[in-house]
Amino acid sequence: MKEVVCAALKVLPRGKKARAQALGAALKSVYPEAFCALEYEADPFRLLVMARLSAQCTDKRVNQVSKALFSALPDAASFAAAPLEQIEALVKPCGLYHTKAKSIQDFSRILVERYGGEVPRTKEELLALPGVGEKIANLMMGDVFGDPHIVADTHCIRLSGRWRLTDRRDPARVTRDLEQIVPKEEQSDFCHRVVSFGRDFCRAQNPDCAACPLTK
Ligand code: SF4
Repeated sequence: MKEVVCAALKVLPRGKKARAQALGAALKSVYPEAFCALEYEADPFRLLVMARLSAQCTDKRVNQVSKALFSALPDAASFAAAPLEQIEALVKPCGLYHTKAKSIQDFSRILVERYGGEVPRTKEELLALPGVGEKIANLMMGDVFGDPHIVADTHCIRLSGRWRLTDRRDPARVTRDLEQIVPKEEQSDFCHRVVSFGRDFCRAQNPDCAACPLTK
């Protein structure tokens, strides 16, 4: 894919930290409300499952699939007890359904056995669950447990590169770089707004630079 040269860099501060702050403020004016694109209805377990389903799948598809999924299996106990084939059939439209269904059932069993069916509250405990990596753990920490974190999804990685906030591409390194320059208390909201902006303007293919509010 041809590299995109971001026109907004001309009007943004040169220093990375100052640029991240300016971007945070600009995104906030475009999107006063920062929100998670996964419609998890304030249920931490749902968010955990939906975040697992969102790997290499759109949030829109995950939201659609989740309606039938949680009608059939509303909580960790029901996922733990269900035949694996039932979970596979329900999550199949999200792709990678064997591994997704297996890890969701495995972590549901751990939640039931160790945590009374609830989602644990620390990043270390989240990372110990099958299929849960740093992106999911950080999403949970920020959106459910009030401890903002960087969530390096595909939009965040792409836009951070275009904005020269990092020259890395792997999620862990992007996360480390952004942690240094995005204020801690704003990290989750910053990443949610980046997702919105990445969908609306700064798309992977054909970014709408002519309409981009960051260049105004
Ligand atoms: S859409 Fe805006 S932020 Fe994205 S590359 Fe174009 S000018 Fe830069």
